[in-house]
Amino acid sequence: MDCCNTGKMLPFEEAKQRLKGSIERTTKTEVLALDYCLDKVLAADAISTIQVPNYDNSAMDGYALRSQDFASTSQFHLIGKSFAGAPYSGKVESGQCVRIMTGAVIPAGADTVIMQENSSAQGDTTIGELIEFSQPAKANENIRRAGEDIRIGDVILKQGSRISPVDLGLLASIGIASVEVYQAIKVALFSSGDELRLPSETLTPGCIYESNRFVVRAMLQRLGADVVDLGIIPDDPVLLERAFTQASDTCDAVISSGGVSVGEADYTKSILDKLGQVDFWKVAMKPGKPFAFGTLNTNGPKEVCYFFGLPGNPVSATVTFHQLALPALRKLAGEIFNDEINLPLSTLDTLKKSPGRADFQRGLLTRNDKDELCVTSTGSQGSGILTSISKADCYIVLEAEENTQKKGSTVMVQPFDRWLSR
Ligand code: AMP
Ligand code: MG
Repeated sequence: MDCCNTGKMLPFEEAKQRLKGSIERTTKTEVLALDYCLDKVLAADAISTIQVPNYDNSAMDGYALRSQDFASTSQFHLIGKSFAGAPYSGKVESGQCVRIMTGAVIPAGADTVIMQENSSAQGDTTIGELIEFSQPAKANENIRRAGEDIRIGDVILKQGSRISPVDLGLLASIGIASVEVYQAIKVALFSSGDELRLPSETLTPGCIYESNRFVVRAMLQRLGADVVDLGIIPDDPVLLERAFTQASDTCDAVISSGGVSVGEADYTKSILDKLGQVDFWKVAMKPGKPFAFGTLNTNGPKEVCYFFGLPGNPVSATVTFHQLALPALRKLAGEIFNDEINLPLSTLDTLKKSPGRADFQRGLLTRNDKDELCVTSTGSQGSGILTSISKADCYIVLEAEENTQKKGSTVMVQPFDRWLSR
């Protein structure tokens, strides 16, 4: 690839599109009971075999009657009661009404429901009682018609939808007890670097506590992936190669962090070149830039294992994973989704930038003294400053060609989505 041979940076949008285009959705599915389907991805359209509501029913507590009767009377004989789950089986004739509760079946003959507040009845009513209404009713009032929400044959959820709490209710509401969903994708993860230590270890001079695996693993967990955590791998080409080989034989994707820049101990790219095909490894984004994507050759039944090589700096690893790898993994997991929506907001801080790379600065949504929605910067934006993103609730997205944005100018803001937010 041109960008790999020349070391040219791929524009951010092009990298995103290339990732999207390269990934094949998983085809492995399973049928699960609704209880286990939250956040799973539907592998087939969910189609309704019933209508909702299933019958005409009342939207109010009141009285069901014939609207045309008001031409000659405002008093009606109470002939029966229709409760939710216990319909009135008779027919409403001229001059008659049926006491009806919310959700109860509209009795035959009736074409409207008058709410009880407009009736003379106080407290309990008895059959045969004469009920007077203070104002006439028009036809079709306070009636929820059969099929007005869902008709037989309607697709209520599309293949590729990630199942939300409300979706579970929707599926239950049409009598669907289990659905076909995509099986969890299997993703291997490791951090590379001789200096990296676990938070439980004692720091020796020149070492740091590693954080990338914790961030990325958590987002993979939210994605519902089956995570194979290979831990910390030292800057040793033999061990790194072994980790990639082990992962590619058993996993759908492998994610590494660190070792993709041009330092002397950065072996990742050369190993990837040997074990597979690097598609691109430099993206014109900040934080980021060194970000490798490609495929690894596999020795198992699987056709392909994708790799995503994240930069080592913690903010860069987080942002490149979130912006580039995560959408690709969502597609791999079968999900069909829309791009995020950015909001044009005024910035309360001057945002430093030089043209060249798309910038994902970290911001906080806030209000100005006129109570208008605005954005502020979380401060120092270095790619190693993890607090700049832990304090944030949005990105301030500045296009590659943009310059410093002065306080008061309008910038594009991308609120953190469910994968990154608290
Ligand atoms: P590298 O991409 O390996 O050159 O690493 C760039 C910077 O990120 C260095 O300062 C590393 O110490 C740091 N770094 C690399 N991996 C991690 C990690 N897993 N967690 C936190 N910092 C890291
Ligand atoms: Mg390193």
